[in-house]
Amino acid sequence: MNSTRIAVTPGRFHGGLKLDGHRKLATGKPIASLPLSERYYLWLEQHHGPAALPCVAVGDRILGGQIVAAQEGRPGTAIHSPTSGIVADFQDLPAPTAQMSSAHMLVIESDGEDRACHEFGAITDWENAAPESLTERIAQSGIVGLGGAVFATGAKIGRAAANVTLILNGAECEPYISCDDGLMRERADSIITGARILLRALGSKDCLVAIERDKPEAIAAMETAIRDAGDERLRLERIFSLYPAGGERQLIEALTGRQVPRGGLPQDIGLVCLNVGTAAAVGRAVCRGQPLTSRITTVTGPALVAPGNFDVRIGTPIRELVAAAGGCNDPSARLIMGGPMMGVPLQDDRVPVVKAMNCLLVLPANELSDGQNQRPCIRCGDCAEVCPARLLPQQMYWELRDERFEPAREFGLDACIECGCCDVVCPSHLPLTQYFRWGKSQLHKQFIEHERAEHARQRFEARNARLEKQKAERQARLAAKREALEKARSDSGRRAAIDEIMARKKRAADENNEPGQSE
Ligand code: SF4
Ligand code: SF4
Repeated sequence: MNSTRIAVTPGRFHGGLKLDGHRKLATGKPIASLPLSERYYLWLEQHHGPAALPCVAVGDRILGGQIVAAQEGRPGTAIHSPTSGIVADFQDLPAPTAQMSSAHMLVIESDGEDRACHEFGAITDWENAAPESLTERIAQSGIVGLGGAVFATGAKIGRAAANVTLILNGAECEPYISCDDGLMRERADSIITGARILLRALGSKDCLVAIERDKPEAIAAMETAIRDAGDERLRLERIFSLYPAGGERQLIEALTGRQVPRGGLPQDIGLVCLNVGTAAAVGRAVCRGQPLTSRITTVTGPALVAPGNFDVRIGTPIRELVAAAGGCNDPSARLIMGGPMMGVPLQDDRVPVVKAMNCLLVLPANELSDGQNQRPCIRCGDCAEVCPARLLPQQMYWELRDERFEPAREFGLDACIECGCCDVVCPSHLPLTQYFRWGKSQLHKQFIEHERAEHARQRFEARNARLEKQKAERQARLAAKREALEKARSDSGRRAAIDEIMARKKRAADENNEPGQSE
């Protein structure tokens, strides 16, 4: 047994809910691929950090896998073309996020040939490659956390200390979503290869693969892949099926009994947590030289004719996903990116697939809360009991209702993971998570405004100091001039007085020396 291994005491995290999974809708058949689209729409801000900077112009011919928008700052990442074709346009389209209504996208027109650029060759001997070269390849390949966080994986690995324990998150807990389940059932080998590459890049000797107990097919496939790899550093752990077990902090608490400090990161307690889909993407980037241009997305919901898991290219318009799932049988159905608990409602079907899109949920309108039947809070405390972040949702709600943002922050608003558990149990049907999302966005806005005001104040003070300095310098120069003048004046007066005395003396001497007066 390796001495660096962390102790695992599979248990429970605080709070959480047992929810109906609805996953059978999509897991009944194998992962399917979509035909090539005519156009792909690449959002430049589809990752955590600054927007990527386009490095192509309209009319340029490009190949699949070619970088079309470069990483701009940290922890940003690059965006690669999903196919070969031509850069057709830059367009503003409905945004795949709740934070903005429209988003700037780069439009690629496919040439139908689907030629790849092979810009990055395969690192076949990755077992002996330098860890830094593997991290660099992961960063170049535009890989981000595919569980939804979309934080650049290269940056995450790069800042981790050596000897951390790697946790692979296969706990897909939100109802309807089964893309990771499908991936583990069908492509377990690619996940395990990715995990071993990540262990080398991290300099780590311990990897836990966490899967919920209600996924027996995925567990069996992953066990076989681990056995076939013959790598003793890998261990599979079955955890309780409880929502939100897939949340990074909840998974860590369930696996180790330890809590990530509020405001801190898993690496503060020696852990790095990555999604199983991210590991598979790392495997493809290193072993095949393929950047991240596709992902598995669950396309599901009672309003779809044939839900399923699909291997989709980033940038595909979601109307093509709906069509691939047999079409929608309810004209009033709503589109949601993600699951019913944490998903983002989409404006329409022109929105493209982004790296974060683990699920496209199509729900009949009557299955969505209409905000009716709300009653006052009765202080029952049920929301606090289920809160996995150990918060007091009712207190935060009271503060936010009266727009007291700072007290809400003091109650831990920043630590809310927007899981929606409190909404589900609230007998007064209060839209608590909606309040918390809004409160967090207001605090963010206030922070940005404060930063701007602080910047403006500093500029104003610097300008005043500069003007004061210039004024003081001018006054000093004037005073010096005045002094010099005074001095010059007094010097010339004295000289005039001396000249007068000398002249007088000379006159007197001349008078004394007149002829006839000498002795
Ligand atoms: S569950 Fe609802 S009613 Fe009960 S304390 Fe929380 S907010 Fe109030
Ligand atoms: S949404 Fe926030 S406050 Fe409500 S249960 Fe989840 S973490 Fe707690």
